[in-house]
Amino acid sequence: MSLRFEHESFAQRVVFAAGEAASKVAQEVLRLGATRVMVIASKTEQDLAHRVSSGIPVSLLYHDVAMHVPVEVAERARAAAAEHNVDLLLCAGGGSTTGLAKAIALTTGLPIIAVPTTYAGSEATNVWGLTEGAQKTTGVDPRVLPRAIVYDAALTVSLPVPMSVASGLNAVAHCVDSMWAPRTDPIDQAIAAEGIRALRLGLPALVDDPAALPGREQTLYGAYLSAVAFASAGSGLHHKICHVLGGMFNLPHAQTHAIILPYVLALNGPSAPDAERRLAAAFDSDRAIDGLLGLRIRLDAPRALRDIGFTEADIPGAAAAILPAVPADNPTAVTTDDLERLLRAAWDGADLR
Ligand code: NAD
Repeated sequence: MSLRFEHESFAQRVVFAAGEAASKVAQEVLRLGATRVMVIASKTEQDLAHRVSSGIPVSLLYHDVAMHVPVEVAERARAAAAEHNVDLLLCAGGGSTTGLAKAIALTTGLPIIAVPTTYAGSEATNVWGLTEGAQKTTGVDPRVLPRAIVYDAALTVSLPVPMSVASGLNAVAHCVDSMWAPRTDPIDQAIAAEGIRALRLGLPALVDDPAALPGREQTLYGAYLSAVAFASAGSGLHHKICHVLGGMFNLPHAQTHAIILPYVLALNGPSAPDAERRLAAAFDSDRAIDGLLGLRIRLDAPRALRDIGFTEADIPGAAAAILPAVPADNPTAVTTDDLERLLRAAWDGADLR
């Protein structure tokens, strides 16, 4: 690739401090001069939210969070923010919680401090998502990029291992797709490669000792890098497929990414030699696909869409909905038949070795 590109880095404070979220969050709130904070966390994240918000002026503790941010959930949250006259949004939780904070920021411009407790990476992107009926809409807006992120690996210890693995593979997917996404450049690719390196070391350590912090810290670091690369490079084929599946069939986000990724890599890898070389090196493997499959076996990753609510009868409709979204410059030209084949293999969990 010739060194001719344009790259934009986003301004955002990033704090890594295991075990210190409360004091670091208080510093960031002070820095932004906020006095009326809306703390957003789902019911299961309530305890985490209490742990991070002990030193800040909380005006509203808000729990009405739902996956893929349904429009009516966003509207209720916006109304609550206005009613309590809040001046800052603090989201403590997974991508769904971060997504709700973004939905409020999109229409109000309120600043966000994000304390992520999964490896979804939404905190490091300017991408928002809303779902109306079975249609998920995403967009890009600088107002939704959190002003600061506080990463505290201790807060992710309670994330069960299967969810940690799926979420970590969601981050690996950001990295892999960043290699050929529409706006990719050598900076994105370098960040994505470092993300894969951190994730392929962090995730096995996490699985071996889920209560220990080093594996979880590496995984958070990889998740952050993955999202930075993805935010800059944009959505490649993998994200387009998962986006349609998530919106149309309400499939769980992280698991869908974890299952689809190897099939997209098998499709695109042979037509993208530069990406293939970088990915193989990042996975420390002769071939990228072998590196990814080896990691998935080591982690006992989710295998088949049929296990998470997608049926064989859903395949034709899904393929037809994905086709118009396939990026024009995807390394491999893709037809409806290719998409149906890919979805059938992913539905069945077909072995790629
Ligand atoms: P999630 O936020 O729905 O969390 C999954 C489950 O884990 C939830 O029940 C949550 O309460 C629980 N949980 C979270 N942290 C926990 C912890 N530390 N301990 C115990 N339980 C915990 O799932 P996700 O995969 O983090 O996020 C998915 C959502 O994020 C999707 O809607 C997706 O579209 C969005 N997303 C957006 C972007 C973006 O750039 N806009 C990027 C990635 C993901």
